[in-house]
Amino acid sequence: MRYGIIADIHGNLEAMRAVLDDCRQEAVENIICLGDIVGYGADPAACLDIVMERGITSVAGNHDWAVVEKFSTEFFNPIAAEAVAWTQKRISSQQRHYLENLPLMLETREFVAVHGMLNHPEQFFYLRDIEDARDTFYLMKRSVCFVGHTHVAMVLKESGGLVEFERSVDFDLKDGVKYIINPGSVGQPRDGDARASYVIFDTAIKRIHLKRLDYDVATAQRKINALGLPSFLAARLSIGQ
Ligand code: ZN
Repeated sequence: MRYGIIADIHGNLEAMRAVLDDCRQEAVENIICLGDIVGYGADPAACLDIVMERGITSVAGNHDWAVVEKFSTEFFNPIAAEAVAWTQKRISSQQRHYLENLPLMLETREFVAVHGMLNHPEQFFYLRDIEDARDTFYLMKRSVCFVGHTHVAMVLKESGGLVEFERSVDFDLKDGVKYIINPGSVGQPRDGDARASYVIFDTAIKRIHLKRLDYDVATAQRKINALGLPSFLAARLSIGQ
């Protein structure tokens, strides 16, 4: 199976289209989304339509659940909270229902997927480094766990109690090693690279491959500004921060 692992679309339709086009060219058979379909970007409804119509399997992100009031915005920064309120007015009741029913975790034969981390997934903690990863490695029943949420692509490799952190997400899976992999963000990368980010997981050859794609950033920015979202959300897309 060739999986496309995507995360943190955040209502960015232009970035999402670029990634889905690339998945087609790469002969991806199954797309898995690690949450945050909505929030920040100008096209939450269009992005949800695509996810729902294509039957893309997704787990819940903190923004997905904040929009349907299943997760508090108490600790969101003011700009993120404003984007949540804006998004609430722009999705249908059917889409709301879809977001409410997203699961916190997804398990396949080959991997587990979650937005933040495996311990207390409903609290959406950030898995950024070796220290954060300890409980998730402990809870993993599969050798691969995909996480999103930080918008920064990385991999943590655990073998014999030792954990290595790498920013380069391009490798062959080895037996006896556990992996926590973040594919970066489709719609709002924060690693200084403005291109959309996602991962291809080919289970037949046990290979993980990160892809970065140019997309129409200017159109995504124009829509954010035209529709009255905070202009910071448009500006950050140019610099990938
Ligand atoms: Zn996010």
